[in-house]
Amino acid sequence: MDMNVSQLLQDPIGSTRDFQIDELIDINGDGKSHKIQGKCNLLRTQRSILVKCLLKTEVDLTCNRCLGKFRQPLKIKLEEEFFPTLDILSDASLPPPEEPGTFTIDEQHTLDLTEAIRQYSLLAIPMKALCKKDCSGLCPTCGKNLNEGKCDCPTQDIDPRWSKLAELK
Ligand SMILES: [Zn+2]
Ligand SMILES: [Zn+2]
Repeated sequence: MDMNVSQLLQDPIGSTRDFQIDELIDINGDGKSHKIQGKCNLLRTQRSILVKCLLKTEVDLTCNRCLGKFRQPLKIKLEEEFFPTLDILSDASLPPPEEPGTFTIDEQHTLDLTEAIRQYSLLAIPMKALCKKDCSGLCPTCGKNLNEGKCDCPTQDIDPRWSKLAELK
């Protein structure tokens, strides 16, 4: 996901570029490519290029309750500044940005979005994934997936009024 931004760096502050993304990116380093699609906007600021993207992709997740595999669409909202390492006009090296972990534009004025997209995609994955909002999960006794129907296990929490009756018997 490389872009040459030498022209944009020479444009006046406030200049923008729009472009579409349709890329295959390995998000979590498992060798599987995810199709990433969406729109990005680049803005030339005084010190950097501000990149804003609205992207979407899909990931395969395991449900936290029923352990079923399912496909989850993800929306990724990326907003990140990329700092030049060379001054576009003088070719002089620029000091690295003060904040750690910032993204840079390399000496060929190439802005590489791949790592930023990867990081933002990982952040967009829900920590507690559910295959559906009302997933019934697994029966704690027999392990049956209760989304596929009830099991034959006795209900665990017996109504207290009935337990009195059971004692009498
Ligand atoms: Zn589930
Ligand atoms: Zn059961």
